Amino acid sequence: MKNLDIKQLKCLTCKKEFNSEAKTKPFCSQRCSYIDLNSWLGEKYSIQANEEDYEKDI
Ligand SMILES: [Zn+2]
Repeated sequence: MKNLDIKQLKCLTCKKEFNSEAKTKPFCSQRCSYIDLNSWLGEKYSIQANEEDYEKDI
């Protein structure tokens, strides 16, 4: 029954299948989790930048 515990997950960043027991889930590796985090932060910064531009226009 131990095999049931081992599931394959798909990495959110590179879509590669990996063992769900990995500590880095939902990513296959720490590198992929950083890539996702960076894209997240990048989005946040670009939103803030847009808001600043908006204030200048007014
Ligand atoms: Zn990955």
